[in-house]
Amino acid sequence: TVKGDVHDIGKNIVGVVLQCNNYEVIDMGVMVPCASILEKAREEKVDIIGLSGLITPSLDEMVHVAREMEREGFTLPLLIGGATTSQVHTAVKIEPQYSGPTVYVTDASRGVGVLGSLMSREGRGEFVAKVKAEYAGLRARHEGRRARADMHSLEEARRNRAAVDWEAVPAPAFTGVHAFEDYPLEELRERIDWTPFFATWELSGTFPKILGEGPAAEAARSLYQDAQALLDRIVREGLLRASGVFGIFSANAAGDDVEIYGPDGRVLGVAHFLRQQMAKAPGNPNLCLADFVAPRERGQADWIGAFAVTAGLGAEELARAFERQGDDYSAIMVKALADRLAEAFAERLHERVRREFWGYAPEEGLTNEELIREAYPGIRPAPGYPACPDHTEKALLFSLLDAEKRASMRLTESFAMLPAASVSGFYFAHPQACYFGVGRIGRDQAEDYARRRGVDLPAVERWLSPILGYEPGGGDKGPVPAAVFGPSRA
Ligand code: SAH
Repeated sequence: TVKGDVHDIGKNIVGVVLQCNNYEVIDMGVMVPCASILEKAREEKVDIIGLSGLITPSLDEMVHVAREMEREGFTLPLLIGGATTSQVHTAVKIEPQYSGPTVYVTDASRGVGVLGSLMSREGRGEFVAKVKAEYAGLRARHEGRRARADMHSLEEARRNRAAVDWEAVPAPAFTGVHAFEDYPLEELRERIDWTPFFATWELSGTFPKILGEGPAAEAARSLYQDAQALLDRIVREGLLRASGVFGIFSANAAGDDVEIYGPDGRVLGVAHFLRQQMAKAPGNPNLCLADFVAPRERGQADWIGAFAVTAGLGAEELARAFERQGDDYSAIMVKALADRLAEAFAERLHERVRREFWGYAPEEGLTNEELIREAYPGIRPAPGYPACPDHTEKALLFSLLDAEKRASMRLTESFAMLPAASVSGFYFAHPQACYFGVGRIGRDQAEDYARRRGVDLPAVERWLSPILGYEPGGGDKGPVPAAVFGPSRA
């Protein structure tokens, strides 16, 4: 797992599958700097290097590793995998950096086939040529799509903001910051959404249906049974600990920013949000999360919330103990369960915030299925997800909440959270608040955003590289025509 990233469940599964197929796997763990990877590869005379990562900043780190491999004269195949990686990203951003074979691997079950092809003396040449041709095609199509993308200028997009009803702002029962130490795991267990658990193990289907029908039913049942047995132990013996912290603060929107105030009215921090710039059909607004908080110029009180929760305290130690006993399966299971408990904690805390702390839905009594469907007013968007794709905003959440001290959580240099089984985000209570994807942004918005954050444009372009709708810095391929992306389109 590359520098700055902490997620390794998928990678561990890949490792186990490959080992079962007689490959020797050297797992370097998480947050591994490029230089260590390349040094180890030389030392051990490996045949193939594989990189994994979950969060978007890892995409850039992988580009960096590919570039370094080229610079240092490597010719080994480079495999790319992990949740935010994709074939298009591999083709467009990574492969052009490295002249050796570069292959995106969709999931653990594909790994064996890809390795088989790369290790076969007869088949390798043909496989590599096929992948190279396929990626060249993907790049060409990607460029075409990008040039066709129809975007508003930032100014136009702002004019087309959402019309929000400001009569409907719910006032909170509680303001300030509140922490939970050692949150009861039994309570979280009830709130687990099991569907993603099966996806982690590459079984697709919805819980509980997945247990009863389909080709994976038997595997799903035995997995579920093992999960329940381990959860029993975890709860009974306190093998994992959960801690969390949330806050509800006075706030007003200032353009696409949200100013967050302390009890004395002083600005505690500013949340910077991005606005959709894609062309919309008439009547559809260009959304920005700041639209769901009352604008300062109205002189009306409003609020925003923040939360950070983890259920991963003790997970690393427990997983390592299983690994030492040669039980890789249970080690992976621990991490998968810690992840589920962390998401369940986010769900449970949000429920309590709606019922008790913000208190705008005191009578709410939704079933777990209804909660999973998000059949409630208000949202909890998470930095790094499509409505607020900038991972660096977690720094604001952590400082507002003092999450390091109050919830024993911290951020890596890529803004991944530690422990890995953690969730953080904002609360918006307005009934019109909804999830959406910002999509691609233009240079005008990147520049505006850099100004608002007080950082330089290249820094913004680095953190937001997956959503840039233009070629940053007028790079190798030259600037994207102004007629397509420039502010002059207005
Ligand atoms: N029941 C799921 C919940 C996680 S996914 C589980 O247990 O895994 C849903 C969460 O992802 C939301 O609560 C929100 O925090 C985040 N999310 C989803 N879509 C988002 C978007 N467009 N922008 C920001 N955050 C989003």
